[in-house]
Amino acid sequence: MDTSLLDPPASARPVMPTAHPWPAPDPTARHRAPHTRRTVALTLAGTVAALASIAVGNTAVGAIAVLFVISWPLERLWRRHPVGVRRLALRTDLAYAVASPALQFVGLVAAVVLGAVSLAWLPGLALRPAVGLLPGWVRTTAGILLFDVLVYWTHRWSHTVPLFWRFHAIHHSTRHLDWVSGFRAHPLDGAFIAPAFAFVLAAGFDAEITGALAVLQFVVGIWAHLNVRWRLRKLRFLVLTPDFHHWHHANEPEAINTNFSTLLPVWDLLFGTFRVPDGPGPRRYGVDEPVPTSIGAQLLHPFRRTGRRVRRRGVRADAATG
Ligand SMILES: [Zn+2]
Ligand SMILES: [Zn+2]
Repeated sequence: MDTSLLDPPASARPVMPTAHPWPAPDPTARHRAPHTRRTVALTLAGTVAALASIAVGNTAVGAIAVLFVISWPLERLWRRHPVGVRRLALRTDLAYAVASPALQFVGLVAAVVLGAVSLAWLPGLALRPAVGLLPGWVRTTAGILLFDVLVYWTHRWSHTVPLFWRFHAIHHSTRHLDWVSGFRAHPLDGAFIAPAFAFVLAAGFDAEITGALAVLQFVVGIWAHLNVRWRLRKLRFLVLTPDFHHWHHANEPEAINTNFSTLLPVWDLLFGTFRVPDGPGPRRYGVDEPVPTSIGAQLLHPFRRTGRRVRRRGVRADAATG
């Protein structure tokens, strides 16, 4: 059968825009990336930097170096998008990572103020006597689930409430997801979790559990941004996977307002926002609105009047596709 009519020559096909130059990942391509000399050299350099910075007591730089040593080989072996190590705005994300202790301190101060003035601790106090009656393991399980569902809704409102989106758009402005891109977040973006935190603590759930969950969500956050093509089809309903979170970052119409969970995807399943389709993964990440590329300008960006913000993410009724 002559297929020439069905399959026009390459010169006749429409030219795709080149703003996002990487091709869609091919799920059938299971071959490993080559072990280049540069990969080995960079891994060794990262190891040396990790040990040296730990030796001089610089935990932030040490943590970044350790992260690099663990993540970079994974991203070379199972990479999703063929992006070089010196990719667009890498310096911005590295700056966020280096500045993370200072940014976390700013976020913590803002969170304490926000948690206090939100009065979310008032209903928490009202609930405290009932929580005190629960057996230990029930209280622990309920505390984990309650905190995680509140984080889900806080994240969802970060996309749908324009004021919150101003801050959260910084995290979504990265056009590459990899080992370091998860650090890009405005310190006040993280502070919005404070009312949930105040409520859970005032209700009498263990502070250690909520604190450990916050740390766990940070670690899972790093893992979720890795530039790896693992699909992890069985795990994706149980815990956050890179595939799940990459779809959350996808700048594609069908992916808007999906996959808000930051630890347990059960909340997206429950509230109709779960979407991890089979087939090729996302082609594009980022936001349509203009966001500056340097860390300083990004930290000031939410406070600037920049006219129309393109990507206000109204919740779509048809967001859930299973
Ligand atoms: Zn988000
Ligand atoms: Zn993210």
